[in-house]
Amino acid sequence: MKNLFYSFFELVYPELCAGCNIGLLVNEKFLCTSCLVNLPKADIGLLTNSDLEKRFYGKVMIDHAFVYLRFQKKSIVQNILFDIKYGGNKAAGRYLGEMFGMEILKRFPSFKPDLIVPVPLHLKRLKFRGYNQSFVIGEGLGKTLSVDCKEVVARVVSNSTQTKINRILRWKNVDGIFQVKDDSEISGKHILLIDDVITTGSTMEACLVALLNAGARKVSIASLAIAT
Ligand SMILES: [Zn+2]
Repeated sequence: MKNLFYSFFELVYPELCAGCNIGLLVNEKFLCTSCLVNLPKADIGLLTNSDLEKRFYGKVMIDHAFVYLRFQKKSIVQNILFDIKYGGNKAAGRYLGEMFGMEILKRFPSFKPDLIVPVPLHLKRLKFRGYNQSFVIGEGLGKTLSVDCKEVVARVVSNSTQTKINRILRWKNVDGIFQVKDDSEISGKHILLIDDVITTGSTMEACLVALLNAGARKVSIASLAIAT
């Protein structure tokens, strides 16, 4: 009876694809088949000679760096990220996190951090939106990697003006905005920092510095998408 009810409900209000907004078929989950096969995958291999390395070179020592998708404006990836971030589509975030994890394991089967930590939102934004999209993605990733995901870093200063200032200033602006809540949670551990999208890398870098200062043994990063 319950299933019948849900099938009827879906018939009236079909679930929509997070990428292109068309109604999903019964066997499709969060993304339609067309969006799924056309996802612009970034080269997950990465750190060596990659675009990503350039964003962190000489700043922080990173063990592994993973990126799943290439982000461009007005693309399905932008729609998906928007849906996860503002549309309340936590399930899609977890699902993509799981797929990301599978891709990592395919290439790096022995990769096993001790803890996954999301880049935090400012408390005000967290209260407004109700959840941190990076945490949701991290939960999915952690499910595949069998690693816990925990919000152990706090954002102490809001940097809402960040998008308006240039890159050099931006590096300075993020310096010191993150604080580890309890050092014992990460002390001596290999931490995998997760975010939804990397642009300049400055936010992640500031977060990595906070983690290393608080005693993390080594740090790796994973971002669902990278702006190209
Ligand atoms: Zn679609």
